[in-house]
Amino acid sequence: MAAAVIRRPLARAAVLAGLAFVPAVVAGCAQAPVTGREQLMLISEEQANQLGAEAWQQIKAETPVSQDSAAQNRVQRMGERIAAASGAEGIDWEFVLFEDETPNAFALPGGKIGVNSGMLKIARTDDQLATVLAHEVGHVVARHPSEQMSQSAAIQTALGASGIGDEAVGQLVQMATGVGQLSFSRAAEAEADRIGLQYMARAGYNPEAAIALWQNMAAATAEAGQPPEFLSTHPNPEHRIENIRAALTEVMPVYRANI
Ligand SMILES: [Zn+2]
Repeated sequence: MAAAVIRRPLARAAVLAGLAFVPAVVAGCAQAPVTGREQLMLISEEQANQLGAEAWQQIKAETPVSQDSAAQNRVQRMGERIAAASGAEGIDWEFVLFEDETPNAFALPGGKIGVNSGMLKIARTDDQLATVLAHEVGHVVARHPSEQMSQSAAIQTALGASGIGDEAVGQLVQMATGVGQLSFSRAAEAEADRIGLQYMARAGYNPEAAIALWQNMAAATAEAGQPPEFLSTHPNPEHRIENIRAALTEVMPVYRANI
């Protein structure tokens, strides 16, 4: 990830002091893109990427990849366009459409982003799908999975003992699939919305579509009688829509400059 995106005071201090190395594990603070919010990071990017890759393999082993090549290509092409527009560097992005009717999408450290086929019934246009993809890209660039794991007592204990391994991979899989207790904080969700609007606008997708996307999500929830997975980890569509409306004045000029 670009040094301009994530600030690492310890690493910077080492460089300033003339030391010729950057520690492999840097625990400390980081700063989220777009919002500039300070974050607690106990997990290095290298650790997180390794854990993300393991969780990704586990999910791929358990969930079939969609055989609809047109839809698969669409998700990849749009995801890569948004990832490029984020300006984040050094991330090995991968976008995969999974065959799963549960309307869910998720992000793992290292730029692994999954969209379930059921989400395409809610994200019905390119701009609406871009809202979902840009939100997930926002989670990755802001390193929300690492931040969430840094706040987990179990991970903190593991960090102090033999290192993080299966426990962390399991937590990431739970976070992604919406099965476990671990989900992003409300602040992280609002931040991914805000970052996502910015990135989709830069990529030339209309950020106004975020409103329709969340309205579709709310309607699907009402119809199902219980929240789909994505909503159980992404609460309060009405509240989000208010925040998105407020952010539109800032991002619509960006969109207009990029179409
Ligand atoms: Zn989210």
